[in-house]
Amino acid sequence: MTVTTRFAPSPTGSLHVGNVRTAIHNWMWARKHGGRFLLRIDDTDLERSKEEHVGAIRADLAWLGLDIDGEERQSARFALYEAEFGKLKAAGRVYACYETPEELDIRRKVLLSRGLPPVYERKPADAPGPEGVTPHWRFRLDHDAPIEWTDMVRGPQHFEPRNMSDPVVRRADGSWLYLLPSVIDDIAMGITHVVRGEDHVSNTAAQIQMFGALGAPPPQFAHEALLVGTEGKLSKRLGSLGMASLRAEGIEPIALVALLARLGTSDPVEPVTSPAPLIESIDFARFGRAPARFDEGELALLNQKILHHTDHAAVASRLPAAITAARWNAIRPNLMTVAEAADWVAVFDGPFAPPAPDDADRPVLAAAAAAAPGIDWTADPWHALTAAAKEATGAKGRALFLPLRRALTGRDHGPDMAELLPLIAKDQAVARLAAN
Ligand code: GLU
Repeated sequence: MTVTTRFAPSPTGSLHVGNVRTAIHNWMWARKHGGRFLLRIDDTDLERSKEEHVGAIRADLAWLGLDIDGEERQSARFALYEAEFGKLKAAGRVYACYETPEELDIRRKVLLSRGLPPVYERKPADAPGPEGVTPHWRFRLDHDAPIEWTDMVRGPQHFEPRNMSDPVVRRADGSWLYLLPSVIDDIAMGITHVVRGEDHVSNTAAQIQMFGALGAPPPQFAHEALLVGTEGKLSKRLGSLGMASLRAEGIEPIALVALLARLGTSDPVEPVTSPAPLIESIDFARFGRAPARFDEGELALLNQKILHHTDHAAVASRLPAAITAARWNAIRPNLMTVAEAADWVAVFDGPFAPPAPDDADRPVLAAAAAAAPGIDWTADPWHALTAAAKEATGAKGRALFLPLRRALTGRDHGPDMAELLPLIAKDQAVARLAAN
C-alpha cells in the first residue's frame, strides 16, 4: 500500500508555524516512504473559507519546498458526503436531533451539578421530532466497542465510547462539520497515515468508529504535541506568525523546515542545506509528548548557520550579479540573511567612501597606500599589503589590521581579509587607502 498523507488546512486564514510544522511532518513521512503527499483544502465552511487563503497556502507550501502530489477540495465533494451520509442514516449510525443550543447547555449544567460527565443523552431511537423543526445530525457511537489504537507518537490509546457524546456531524442547514467529511475523504483518498496536532485526539476516537461504520480500516495516527512559544503557550504572535513575515525577515525556507522538522523530537536541530537528511531520519517514535518550544531567536541563528555553507548556485538568482561565487563564499560567514549580500557590492566595486581614520592610524594607511599600486592583486595582496605597512611603520596585530580593514571595507568586523581583498577591485582598494 502506497504511504499517503495529507495536509488538510481550512482556508480561513493564512498558515502559521504551528500548522506548517504539521505539513512538514506529513510531507517528510510521505517522501521517506516514496509515497504521496496531498493537499486537502477543508473548505466545507463556505462562508469563512476564502479563495485568497487557498492561494496563499499553495504559495507557502511551494516556498517551503513541500511539493504536493495532488490537491483536493472538500467543497467539490459534497455529493460523495451526501451519499455516504445516506448509507449511515440507513444503517442507523446517524440520527436526527432537535435540541436547541440552550436546551443542550441546560442539560450539560444539570449533569455537571450532579457530578456526572456532561455527555449527550440520546433520545429513544424512534422519538419523533417536533413539527416543523429541521434537525441536525449526530453520529451514533457504538457503546459496546471500546476504541483503541496505537498512536505513533503517543503509544496505546483507549477511549470508552460510553463516556463520549455522539458527535454532531451535520448542521440543521445541511452544512458539514469537519469530522465526517474528513473520514470519508481519508478513505476515498487512500490515506494511510494521519499526522496532526494532539488537539485532535478525541476527534480521532470518534472518527475511528466512523471508519468502521463506513466499512474501512482506520489509517495510522500520529498526534504531535503542540507548538508553544518561548513564554510557554501558543502566543498571539506565534499563532499569527505567517510565512510572509518570516520571508520578509530573510528566513530561508530550509531553515524553517530544519527547525520545525526536529523541534520537540529527540533528534538535534541541525543546519542542513537540504531536507534529505531530515526526511531520512523522521521517526514518530522520537517525537516527545511535551509541547515543542519555538524560539524565533533560534530560527534566526539557524538561518545564519545554514547560510554559512549554502552554495552560491542555491542563492544566485536572488543575488546581485556582482556577487560572484568567490565573493559569496567570502562574505557568507558574515551574513544573517541573503539580502544582506547586496550591502557588499559597494565594498567590492564601489562607490565607497572610507570612513575618516583616527589620526593614530594614518601612518599605517599612508604606508599601505604607497605600497598598494605595486602589489600583484592576483597573488596574495593582503599579505603583501600588511607586510609592507608593517615594515614601514612597525605596527602589528590589531593596530596594523584594523585600520586597513576599516579603510577597505568600512567595517570593524567581517570576512577574512586575505580572502576578501583579491575580490575588491584593485583601483578601488588603492583609492580607499589613499583617501585620507
Ligand atoms: N481541517 C482540519 C484542521 O485544520 C484538519 C485536521 C486533520 O488533519 O484531520 O484542524
